[in-house]
Amino acid sequence: MKYIRAYLLLKLFLAIVVPSFIVVIVMSPLYQRVSNSAQAQEQIVTHFENSNMITALGQYVIDAETGVRGFALTGREPFLEPYFAALVRLEQNTALLTQRFAGQSQLLSQLEELQRNFELWQRNFAEEEITLIRQGLPVTELLAPAKQQMDLVRQQVRLLSQTHNTLLQASRSAQIEQTQSAVLLASVGLVAALLIGLLLAFLIAYSISARVREINHVATKVKQGDLSQRLVIRGKDELSQLADTFNAMAETLERKVQVEQQARVALNLQVEQLVAAKTRESKLISEFSELLQACESITEASAVVKQTVLRLFSGSSGALYYSSDDSAECLISWGDLTAPAFCRHDDCWSMRRGKNHLFARSRHDLACAHTTPDSNAALCVPLLARGDVAGFLHLCVPLHLTPEQGISWLEQAEDVAVNIAEHIALALANLRLREHLKALSFRDPLTGLYNRRYLDDYVERELARAARSSQPLAFLMLDIDHFKQFNDRYGHQAGDEVLLQVSQLLQQQIRSSDLVCRQGGEEFVVVIPDLQSADAIAKADAIRQQIALYPFDIAGQQLGVTVSIGVAWFPAAGETLEEILKQADSALYLAKQQGRNCVRSFKDLAGLQILAS
Ligand code: GH3
Ligand code: MG
Ligand code: MG
Repeated sequence: MKYIRAYLLLKLFLAIVVPSFIVVIVMSPLYQRVSNSAQAQEQIVTHFENSNMITALGQYVIDAETGVRGFALTGREPFLEPYFAALVRLEQNTALLTQRFAGQSQLLSQLEELQRNFELWQRNFAEEEITLIRQGLPVTELLAPAKQQMDLVRQQVRLLSQTHNTLLQASRSAQIEQTQSAVLLASVGLVAALLIGLLLAFLIAYSISARVREINHVATKVKQGDLSQRLVIRGKDELSQLADTFNAMAETLERKVQVEQQARVALNLQVEQLVAAKTRESKLISEFSELLQACESITEASAVVKQTVLRLFSGSSGALYYSSDDSAECLISWGDLTAPAFCRHDDCWSMRRGKNHLFARSRHDLACAHTTPDSNAALCVPLLARGDVAGFLHLCVPLHLTPEQGISWLEQAEDVAVNIAEHIALALANLRLREHLKALSFRDPLTGLYNRRYLDDYVERELARAARSSQPLAFLMLDIDHFKQFNDRYGHQAGDEVLLQVSQLLQQQIRSSDLVCRQGGEEFVVVIPDLQSADAIAKADAIRQQIALYPFDIAGQQLGVTVSIGVAWFPAAGETLEEILKQADSALYLAKQQGRNCVRSFKDLAGLQILAS
């Protein structure tokens, strides 16, 4: 098969074989002509020999005549020797020529005619003359007819020579003709073979060159990126097979490039989608960070976290836990999750280890104690602030996802969850610190009660609310009686202890909506919303009585302390805190003046003023 398909080699072989074949074809007639020419040459040589023999024949005739004539003139026998020699040679010569002229009837008849005439001369004249001379008789009568006969013989010799020369000439012409024909045939044959060989070689070389150029042209286009280019298949030679292979290669290449391009387009799309998603994420996280920084409280921050996780982790559920004392409080939850309000630190692996904890039920992962039974996969990210675990972000996968999809979803969400957890941890730590500092600024360090600064804020809000609802707001201004003396007597530390215990008694006496604050020194203010004047006075007196009766335990001693209380209320005592406190302070002053350990209201002042006037 391999050899059968070697068409190109076959073509090249043909380019050699065809001229060779022509040469072989030419060789046969050429050989024939050369052979003829050689034969003609041989004939010429034979003719030359014959010609010499004819010439010699003529000479023998002359020798014979000369010998007879010499004998006739001299009568001496030796003169006859040439005659007899000529006779012998002539006979031999004639016999040879007869052989040589075999098949040449004209020459043979002329030779026979010559021989017959010579024999006539010899028999009738030469032998007669010799006999007569030997007898001493005259031969004169014989001379004329003898000469006439000899002339005839000579003429026969010339005729034979002429005829022979004519044949020689014909042989030479034939030989020349054969030689010229051979030369012509050889020249034409060789030139034709050469030309056909060259033509075939040129055609093959041209077709190969054209095909190679075509292949090169198409290959260059493919190299430049035009993969749709194909070669036209012509014939079945090796170049066509090469073209076929090239086409198959180009097709494979084109297909692969198409697949690669499709993959690249898909990849670009994925990258674009990923970049868009990441950009959206970054934007959301950046916005989230800004919002967190603008938050004034943990509650506000929790709302921001909820809004952000709902946008970042669409379809998910989860919760944010933040430490309060020895447990973590659920600040917010979203989605379908029923998150417990509190969970202990040990209930979450992320809080225990300070590392992300990924839970997938399908993988039989370790679940945190706070994980609800319906949760299939979840991630807990610890909130790390200054090295401490301050809470955790709990993220559950959307319910519609399969276990595998859920794990993949969580793994993808982990980085973002960690990122926002860092922001949350930092923001909550800052807010907690701020709230702590704020609380400190509003609190009295000794008693833990609110201070005067807080009172201003609180009363401002409550006055507005009371005004809106047309409800009273009672103010009790309380001062420990003779506290300077107490200090002097039991020491400043004992005084502090009294202040602390009084503050605790006051806190026990009020509702959660009420406020007690230490205004300064041994003075306290109690603000009670929605309390009518009489009730306010009664409340103040109840407080007074409780303190008066309370056994203050100071360094193992049971000591008694009394307080005086001035009462005023909104709106009767005034519209502002200053106005109302001024009235309450005046009432307190009145209580001090009227014996201490008693309650007076600003209304009592009005009575005094009337009395004074
Ligand atoms: P009055 O019955 O008129 O109120 O007499 P008083 O001595 O209580 O009043 P005064 O204004 O003369 O004295 C107040 C005293 O309260 C002076 C001060 O030593 C004491 N005091 C104020 N703040 C504190 C405190 O934080 N701790 C202690 N131990 N004593 C305080
Ligand atoms: Mg005082
Ligand atoms: Mg006092």
